[in-house]
Amino acid sequence: MISVEEATQLVNSSHWNPVVESVLLDQCNGRVLAKDVLADRDFPPFDRVMMDGIAIRKSDFDEGIRDFNIKGLLAAGSPTVELETGPNCLEIMTGAVMAQNANVVIRYEDVELNDGVAKVIVDEVKANQNIHARGTDRKENNLIIPANTLLGAPEIGALATVGLASVSVYSKPRILIISTGDELVEVDESPLPYQIRKSNVHLLESMCRNLGLEPKRLHLDDQLDEIINSLRHEFCEADIVLLSGGVSKGKLDFLPEALEKLGVKKLFHKVKQRPGKPFWFGRKGTMTVFAFPGNPASTFMCATRYFIPWIRTSMKMATVKHYAILEEAFTFKPELQYFLQCKMSSRSDGSTYALPMPGKGSGDLANLVDSDCFLELPAERSKFEIGEVFPLWKF
Ligand code: AMP
Ligand code: MG
Repeated sequence: MISVEEATQLVNSSHWNPVVESVLLDQCNGRVLAKDVLADRDFPPFDRVMMDGIAIRKSDFDEGIRDFNIKGLLAAGSPTVELETGPNCLEIMTGAVMAQNANVVIRYEDVELNDGVAKVIVDEVKANQNIHARGTDRKENNLIIPANTLLGAPEIGALATVGLASVSVYSKPRILIISTGDELVEVDESPLPYQIRKSNVHLLESMCRNLGLEPKRLHLDDQLDEIINSLRHEFCEADIVLLSGGVSKGKLDFLPEALEKLGVKKLFHKVKQRPGKPFWFGRKGTMTVFAFPGNPASTFMCATRYFIPWIRTSMKMATVKHYAILEEAFTFKPELQYFLQCKMSSRSDGSTYALPMPGKGSGDLANLVDSDCFLELPAERSKFEIGEVFPLWKF
């Protein structure tokens, strides 16, 4: 049986490769940018007025002039005009192009307007005050958004500003999520006493949808021939297959045999971990198959620990490693890497603590709801002390 570290390396030895596709601006939220985006012109594109008020020359103010004749109004969206020489000003609005032959904007709060004259009531002005000078944020052709950025609200604002009505992003993989097991019924069915409703496929689908993916769902009964025939057909249209159940030692756990018969190359079966020991992983050409053990905590842990970082890297999304401090001593004897369900909290010194919530084992779906992370405890130890730091997998 291989270690978690070895399993991680095998999973990450190859990734699904997206292609570049073009999507409309209002469809690109949550997608990953595939090409650098450059400024189409200077940012801002002109000397932009930042306050509603009046435009004057600093030299006039320095000569002691305080009463300025109002010569007109310059609004946002109008071409600029020149300020006539003399004790003159222009009323000027936020977003307007700064008046030519003027270099100070004084806000209305510092001016009294009376009968066509603006009286300045402050004792000091600075050259270029309240003017956002052309090109001071970015110059034309400077980088605005680098490729591989996840697109959210600020990026979409920037894309709009540079005039990209359609955006080059990475494509999404075709994902197939399959439940297996004769005991499973649909969510909207009433299970007989010996049946349960399927939950893992919905849990996995939710994880995929969090990344903007739209998986297809399928169910297979525990019949070897049916599994092989269905998968042969379905594999033609999938880049990634997530299976749950049917990979353990049970007499009806047919997936390892079926997958190998279908030519999926096994990279590993069974990992020194709890939960999720019977995890099976393989590839067929460019298709990747994650076959998770059926217990809900096992499926969820394996998907969180292996699938999510792998698919994020495939989709060029960044992954951040997290750590937390163990909040209560914990003992786990078997020589397996233990993924301890915990509840996180944050302290005023900036540290993150993880309180053990071990639950009743890998079938305990309710405990997953009460916890919010796994703390990864190394296999070679059995006692873990308060205050020790371990890797954290948030969910
Ligand atoms: P298996 O890995 O097929 O031996 O299943 C282990 C346990 O997980 C059994 O109790 C199954 O009933 C349960 N299980 C398998 N698949 C699912 C599923 N999609 N949703 C909920 N429970 C499941
Ligand atoms: Mg089963």
